[in-house]
Amino acid sequence: MSTTLRFLGAAGTVTGSRHLVETRGKRILVDCGLFQGPKRNRLKNWDPFPVDPNTIDVVLLTHAHVDHIGYLPRLVRDGFHGRIYATHPTVELVRILLADTAHLQEEEAKYANKKGYSKHSPALPLFTQRDAERAMDLLYGVSYGDEFTPIEGLVAKYRDVGHILGSAFLSLKTTDRPDRPKKLLFSGDIGRPHDVILRPPSQPYNVDYLVMESTYGDRLHDPEDVRQGLANALQQAFSRNAPVLIPSFAVGRSQSLLYLIRELEEEGAVPAVPIYLDSPMALKALETHQNNLRDLNLTCRRKTLAGVDIFRPKHLHLVSHQRESKALCKKTDRCIIIAGSGMAAGGRILHHLRQNLPNPLATVLFVGYQAEGTRGRALRDGKPHIRMFGQDVQVRAHIQSIDGFSGHADYLEMLAWLMAFNKPVSRVFLTHGEPDASAALQAKIREEFGWPVTLPQEDHPYTIDF
Ligand SMILES: [Zn+2]
Repeated sequence: MSTTLRFLGAAGTVTGSRHLVETRGKRILVDCGLFQGPKRNRLKNWDPFPVDPNTIDVVLLTHAHVDHIGYLPRLVRDGFHGRIYATHPTVELVRILLADTAHLQEEEAKYANKKGYSKHSPALPLFTQRDAERAMDLLYGVSYGDEFTPIEGLVAKYRDVGHILGSAFLSLKTTDRPDRPKKLLFSGDIGRPHDVILRPPSQPYNVDYLVMESTYGDRLHDPEDVRQGLANALQQAFSRNAPVLIPSFAVGRSQSLLYLIRELEEEGAVPAVPIYLDSPMALKALETHQNNLRDLNLTCRRKTLAGVDIFRPKHLHLVSHQRESKALCKKTDRCIIIAGSGMAAGGRILHHLRQNLPNPLATVLFVGYQAEGTRGRALRDGKPHIRMFGQDVQVRAHIQSIDGFSGHADYLEMLAWLMAFNKPVSRVFLTHGEPDASAALQAKIREEFGWPVTLPQEDHPYTIDF
């Protein structure tokens, strides 16, 4: 049977994951992400969707990151009205992230109108909170490992992939050719084998066609142990008796931090100091993690069953109101403030940075990737001044970083995952990578396994026997 794959984003770049499967007279969209990063990428969000959303029958999501789900409200606004399937924890996280994304879109349009910088008058948001709510109404949660039927002739299944809570790889298996069933697998974003709180990626079998991410196709992670790295950084910072600021992503990273800090306190490796989780979105994501403890790794499960509140260090304060957040600026004693955004591009971390960067006793601890052009990157690169709120702020605080927290497998970890496949893959399509990273992984897969590997062109049709 002839099936066509079209990559409508995340081809030659890492954002905008949206892959179209045209088969059996139907259209399945796997992920529905926003383009992010440089302006030339973000402008693509405004292009008309390459196929009429009204003709898409079903959407299947691999995980809740905005570059995989953030276009959903627009798709629905433009006519999509089918089901949107995802694992149960992903459904919960999608609700949180879409509400936030829609809010940001509305704020951006408001700001553009105030400043008069948009080409359109008035500037309109890509979608509204109302559109996001309509998309949420179409969400349909399924359990890991359960089979479901997105369209006649195929069964689908989600299995753990260890990237963020709820993340999964997605398999589509034919049921209408019993003599020669075929399997098409979408890896989603692949996590690491030893995550702090998540289960490792599961093992797939009998894969015929594989659509796989390649973010770290040319890189290896620092072998530094994150627990030890965090302990060292906090011990040093606490010895100066001043605040430690941790810019952090709200979903996943903030919860892993709380988990590790609680562990370090329990072991006596660091003293229990006041910890402020200063991010409304991180608070909601924390609740989602607490609602889905069964989907965490064995160590977390064991501790939870033993009655441990795994995300609650001794003196944890949950800060939701802006007023309380501002009040934290008065803190001069040792404490930890975890706030977004992770790259200090916006969010509450900014007022904490303005307050603490000039203080030579304070510490800013980075626990995630800092993209080119962000304040986070400038701080990591040792810039003596940072521009924020229209002022130059002097940097005298200690700047530290821990590199081992990545949610993406590196190329050896990806090759190891492939190594355990029980039969050769007929064709691999590498997505979700910068061109150099994808090309490097392509060469390694060819060399290691001899499988055909394609780097797909955006919106080019690829025919497979499926
Ligand atoms: Zn992701």
